[in-house]
Amino acid sequence: MNKKYDLIIVGAGPSGVFTAYELIELGLAKDKKILLVEQGKAVEKRTCPVEKAGKCVKCKPYCSITSGFSGAGAFSDGKLTLPNKDSDSIEVGGSLHKYLGVEKTKDLMFYADDIYLKFGADPHIEGLENLDKIQEISERAQANNIILANCPIRHLGTEKSHELYKKLQDYILANNVEIMFETNVKDLIVKENKISGVIISPSGSTDCSKDVEIFSNNVVLGIGRKGANWLSEMCIKHSIKNRAGVVDVGVRYELPDSVMKDVNKYLYEGKFVGYLPPYKDKVRTFCQNPSGFVANEVYDNDLTLVNGHSYKNKKSTNTNLALLASHHFNDPFEEPIKYGVNIGENANQLGMGNVLVQRLGDILNGKRTWDKDLKSNSVVPTLKTAVAGDITYAIGYRTMVDILEFIKTMDKVIPGFANPDNLLYAAEIKFYSNEIVIDNNFETSIKGLYSIGDGGGVTRGLLMASANGVQMARVLKALI
Ligand SMILES: Cc1cc2nc3c(=O)[nH]c(=O)nc-3n(C[C@H](O)[C@H](O)[C@H](O)COP(=O)(O)OP(=O)(O)OC[C@H]3O[C@@H](n4cnc5c(N)ncnc54)[C@H](O)[C@@H]3O)c2cc1C
Repeated sequence: MNKKYDLIIVGAGPSGVFTAYELIELGLAKDKKILLVEQGKAVEKRTCPVEKAGKCVKCKPYCSITSGFSGAGAFSDGKLTLPNKDSDSIEVGGSLHKYLGVEKTKDLMFYADDIYLKFGADPHIEGLENLDKIQEISERAQANNIILANCPIRHLGTEKSHELYKKLQDYILANNVEIMFETNVKDLIVKENKISGVIISPSGSTDCSKDVEIFSNNVVLGIGRKGANWLSEMCIKHSIKNRAGVVDVGVRYELPDSVMKDVNKYLYEGKFVGYLPPYKDKVRTFCQNPSGFVANEVYDNDLTLVNGHSYKNKKSTNTNLALLASHHFNDPFEEPIKYGVNIGENANQLGMGNVLVQRLGDILNGKRTWDKDLKSNSVVPTLKTAVAGDITYAIGYRTMVDILEFIKTMDKVIPGFANPDNLLYAAEIKFYSNEIVIDNNFETSIKGLYSIGDGGGVTRGLLMASANGVQMARVLKALI
């Protein structure tokens, strides 16, 4: 095989998929040769054996939770965070507006939301009613130096997202876009600062004789957080300009629905942010799952981190959400991904390859949590594979202080937020590759090489990653 394409898109997450979708809508897929390369599986083949096996079996070569058609989106809870129409800023989802301006970014996000609706998303939006109740929560937060970002949410639910993305996959395949599944992009082909193609190999293969070069003068990288490490390697190898990014480190917090009932009812997902003393680091809540389940998130080299889902039909009695502290390193250490991986590995070592869980009360009393403590705990852990232990051995002092201060303050906003039986799972880490330097057309310092979505640091959520893909296609219209 020695093929030439008009465009190669690497990664079939929302950013890559919406690039392909919009190219079809713009009429380009009819005559142009467009290829989407994805290291994971087609959406209908993505299954996670954790429920049957009772534990995470660390699927090889890639975890189906984070790889495959629709990327980290298919198994995610599918909460589309819409921009607030009345606000003149965009608080959640990433920084696409830094490149395109707020109004254009909002338009793109609403356009992407319409595509989700067209493929079967629930028309109901949470957070548009009971504005007086939302205002009350917001005022209580403000009085305690916590900001509540008020963003409406469209909830797809994990099972529904799967169906929706299957329809989208069928549509893309039926419209002349070629998709190579279970195919890894190993390397980029760069000559004289211009992209001329990529080197692919079957996913999981270490046999170099199976490497194949495929060519294009336009390559879009939509590789997500999963590909952040690979992208950092590419930056070094091919001198792609980048700057040190942030790493978000923290825990998944699980507490009773009854404590979170007002936030769940009026907002579905409360996005709270604080910059509290002594460090004044940004600490935020993220990905809140009412009546949800805590989940494993497995990365390359079996690194097992924690995340959460909620389903449309299957319910627990707990709410889970991430509590994340943002850290930015620049002198002399500039490797936020390595820092995050080290924390994740420490936590895994202590949990014998599993996520650790600890009661808040035990952390405050300086003791580890034992299995027997969990058996009599009023909050029953929904992640059955989590191992009771001491997360403070793994998480740094500064991050721990950030998180505990945030929990204590949030207790004044939501009484019960700091109940001793609430559970902290470690580690939850959001890796962003070193921020790739791009222009307003998402072009990197390598001509013809573009970077979109979570991987290069532009977005942090489904809807903005999708909007980024739409705009990428519109830019490419004039170029391919
Ligand atoms: C469990 C979980 C729950 C989440 N819940 C929500 C939510 O409710 N709402 C929300 O807004 N966001 C949520 N997110 C985040 C959201 O999924 C991401 O922001 C979004 O998917 C980013 O899209 P992307 O296209 O940038 O990257 P991804 O969706 O990460 O897709 C990247 C794709 O590229 C592929 N890839 C990477 N490297 C290569 C390579 N070298 N060769 C070939 N393929 C490659 C990967 O396999 C992957 O499929 C969640 C994430 C997780 C993990």
